[in-house]
Amino acid sequence: MLSEHKGLMAAWLLVAGLSTTAFAQSDPSMSTSITIGTGGVTGVYYPAGGAICRLVNRTRSEHGVRCAVRATGGTVVNLTALQTGELELGLAQSDWQHHAYLGTSESFVHEESGADLRSVFSLHSESFTVLARADAGITKLDDLKGKRVNVGSPGSGQYATMQVLMEAKGWELDDFREARTFGPVEQASALCDNRIDATVYTVGHPSGVVQEATTTCDVRIVEVDDEQVRSLVEERSYYRFSTIPAGMYKGNQGEVNSFGVVATLVTHSGVPDQVIYALVKAVFTNLDTFKGLHPAFAELTPEAMVREALTAPLHPGARQFYEEKGLIRPEEG
Ligand code: GLU
Repeated sequence: MLSEHKGLMAAWLLVAGLSTTAFAQSDPSMSTSITIGTGGVTGVYYPAGGAICRLVNRTRSEHGVRCAVRATGGTVVNLTALQTGELELGLAQSDWQHHAYLGTSESFVHEESGADLRSVFSLHSESFTVLARADAGITKLDDLKGKRVNVGSPGSGQYATMQVLMEAKGWELDDFREARTFGPVEQASALCDNRIDATVYTVGHPSGVVQEATTTCDVRIVEVDDEQVRSLVEERSYYRFSTIPAGMYKGNQGEVNSFGVVATLVTHSGVPDQVIYALVKAVFTNLDTFKGLHPAFAELTPEAMVREALTAPLHPGARQFYEEKGLIRPEEG
């Protein structure tokens, strides 16, 4: 599994800077197509991409940009596909955006590897979410040892972040009775069919996967809060403490502590300014409509969206719009 993950990263390195995507210019009668890489259809990234595209496509007569969404394996797949020019935009967890841009993970070996990565805006918070069958005897993170655990598919953000957590805990995959790599869409049925005891997922709330699992069988959201988790959050700027709100899911009345990241929209420097400008304009001038398209967006504010959890520099097309609206000052980094 680990080598597959490294393989994806190697693909990132090999093709860095070779993107050949070409775009039509600003004549709205000339259609330009962009595709946003998301995640599994029952996550939040997929509806988030859908919400963005809906607003872009609604204003197509103004800018000529045609927006489409692609279901993918998640963060690392999206970051890699941006480099190959397969995607113009992608959703990515802020921890992996950070590593991709700065080359600060073992998996992103060269600092240059993600140098052309650009931020567009940030979205909802995501919590590292551990879901366990109620009959599995799992009430805290350490109880995962010796159990059948889905660590996510290689290329997903959940898999990548689980690797970091496991390292902090001093765990190997062999510490689980079985380590499985089900994709995001399969996790709920794997749990309810009793093929696994628990699954981990870095996701916003509410999410389709957790809804599906908790309404199909007896599933608990497990607290992720111990000494090693606290150290991770204290030592790494891109992690934060998080809570999964009370009463969102059947059988889970209390608030659950965990740690998490922020979902971000990223692109690359080869995507023309007017395309990104059109996209951010469509979202920010219709932000109330956008927020109404998914409950995980309820807390979004324009100020946070243009600043929070963005390691890669803003794409110039996004920066231009934010400056025009006074959301950032020209001198602001
Ligand atoms: N954070 C997950 C990942 O990067 C995706 C979550 C979602 O689809 O909402 O793989």
